[in-house]
Amino acid sequence: MTYKTATTETPNILVDKFGRQVTYVRLSVTDRCDFRCVYCMAEEMTFLPRADILSLEELEQIAKAFVSLGVHKIRLTGGEPLVRHNISSLVKNIGQLDGLRELTLTTNGSQLKKYAGHLLESGVKRINVSLDSLNEARFKKITRTGNLQQVLTGIDSAIDAGLTNIKLNTVILKGRNEDEILDLVDFARSKQIDISFIEEMPLGLIDEHNRALSFCSSDEVKAVIEERYSLTAVDDDTGGPSKYHRMANSPSRVGFISPHSHNFCHLCNRVRVTVDGLLLLCLGNEHSVDLKAIIRQHPGDLDALRNAIIESMEIKPEKHHFDLDGEPQIVRFMNMTGG
Ligand code: SAM
Ligand code: SF4
Repeated sequence: MTYKTATTETPNILVDKFGRQVTYVRLSVTDRCDFRCVYCMAEEMTFLPRADILSLEELEQIAKAFVSLGVHKIRLTGGEPLVRHNISSLVKNIGQLDGLRELTLTTNGSQLKKYAGHLLESGVKRINVSLDSLNEARFKKITRTGNLQQVLTGIDSAIDAGLTNIKLNTVILKGRNEDEILDLVDFARSKQIDISFIEEMPLGLIDEHNRALSFCSSDEVKAVIEERYSLTAVDDDTGGPSKYHRMANSPSRVGFISPHSHNFCHLCNRVRVTVDGLLLLCLGNEHSVDLKAIIRQHPGDLDALRNAIIESMEIKPEKHHFDLDGEPQIVRFMNMTGG
């Protein structure tokens, strides 16, 4: 297996035992959300006590420490990042960090009408919007509390505001929305935006559906799309796990994120930070470092934070092992992990 190794473009500091350089951080800014998507959360959720949540200043400090260590891409996520109080000031301040090339955001789209213009002004060029159905009733069933129209308006607001790199994220579940694959691709084509299909991952214990039965592989999704459009694989490296394909007569790309069927761990360039300050070295493992403890023991000491991050490279696991049958190995829900 060929590992993605450090380049000379960025400081060679954050390199793990397998020679992979970490240049990308997914920073969760809240565990809270206005939706309760069936694959992501339980219906009744207990959220973190406020005191355990990183303040905006602490989030900024963590971002600053990473960027000073060669990280050039940060994705704000959650929970729903746009429900965090004062998110605008956080986006603006992180967007101004010297050395950061790309600030992105993953959102459910419900608040985009309000925030799209501000995101663009703050230097956000790329956003991912989650969308699993174009059918109002079904959308409500999947998200439990979401409103499709609000999300569609949000997507239009982002396009109208001038955000040029918009991508839909779609999780296909058998028996739920697999008959909408082509409609969702056509929707992306009509808006001239990209779409990525994500395989469902066993994160957190849900009782709403059986993940093994609902699982739909990227290959199955791809086969459906190819009934209408021929897909040509392209080597567009956006620094993420999506494998992109192009279709004729459209600028829209179709991506596949396949944590089960096409393991991408050898190319891993990223880590995650949860909103309670845990630096997670891998999505599918528990290896972590408590950055909140360090930041609160040594307020304002960027070096203490930097050293902890550098040392964490020693424990970054080689790969994840997902098993859809049986108990999930990772009990954290995706809203905590930061998708
Ligand atoms: N609330 C935002 C949103 O929905 O886009 C950001 C956070 S959400 C956790 C990020 C992404 O993770 C979403 O695209 C969602 O579909 C995906 N996701 C959540 N739980 C998942 C799971 N168990 N398996 C695969 N993807 C999941
Ligand atoms: Fe909220 Fe995003 Fe999870 Fe859905 S996937 S419940 S929108 S955090």
